[in-house]
Amino acid sequence: MKAAVVNDAGQPLSRPAVMDTNPERGQEAGLETMCETIRRAVAAAQLTLSDITAIGVATPGLMDIKKGLILDPPNLKPWKNVPVRDHIARVFGKPTAYQNDANAAAYGEFWVGAARAAKSMVLFTLGTGVGGGIILDDTIIEGEHSHGGELGHLRIAMPDHGRLCGCGARGCLEAYASATNVVRRAREEMASWRGPASQLQAYYTANDDEFTAKIIFHHAANGDELALKIVDDTAYFLALGACAVIATVDPEMIVFGGGMTAAGEWFRAKIEHNVHRFGLPYPTQHVKIAFASLGSDAGFIGAAGCARLLVRTGGGAQVHS
Ligand SMILES: [Zn+2]
Repeated sequence: MKAAVVNDAGQPLSRPAVMDTNPERGQEAGLETMCETIRRAVAAAQLTLSDITAIGVATPGLMDIKKGLILDPPNLKPWKNVPVRDHIARVFGKPTAYQNDANAAAYGEFWVGAARAAKSMVLFTLGTGVGGGIILDDTIIEGEHSHGGELGHLRIAMPDHGRLCGCGARGCLEAYASATNVVRRAREEMASWRGPASQLQAYYTANDDEFTAKIIFHHAANGDELALKIVDDTAYFLALGACAVIATVDPEMIVFGGGMTAAGEWFRAKIEHNVHRFGLPYPTQHVKIAFASLGSDAGFIGAAGCARLLVRTGGGAQVHS
């Protein structure tokens, strides 16, 4: 769990306070840890709770955003139907906003990050999974059932023979383009590689334990053909995802975040090249393809942005103070 105080201009006032979630201790302990992380963040900013206007909370997994509940997250067993938002609001007596973590990261990039000058944007976050968020004007597309913008599960291959995704379906973008699956594809590619001798393959044979997407991108940047094929395929798959959202919401900007984007401009250009090959021609000429700028701070900055939005818009159903 990570928390920081963010000012009205979207700037964090300290490094984030970080605490282990320890889900096995149960949800009561988890909620108390969440509160303690918030208290530590306030202390780290050298403030007191009376200085805090509102609180934004963002969590991953299955959730009911309107009700403020974490439902049944597979990575937080045994938690079930955890009333996160109302608990935080009750403990601190502040208006509390609740949001999906990828949506919050998208809102952070929209508010003060790579898309700060855009009116609409779509974010893909590339980590162990592929997260997504869609912002149109100042509105996060939560969906009627809290799972709008689940862009990792856009179908980019036929569901009967595509790669298997963590959600149980086949052919999802995440099954191809998450950092975890980039590594998986590389392992498979190496087993059948018939091209020129590869430094990546040599590295893999010597260091299988430390074989990561970062290593693959490093070798691709040095011109290794096998590594380049993996990166080219990754750019191709991500572009298919981008083309699907262009045809759905036609955003001003598509932003990619996560560790792989540290590769920089050459990787961004590969994605853009494929978007131009496959996207709906007119919007594709105008859409901006960019990499995120807030790094791992995007989530808590965006959560704070959601809290700010809640206060500015009068709160509606989400105010529990
Ligand atoms: Zn999936």
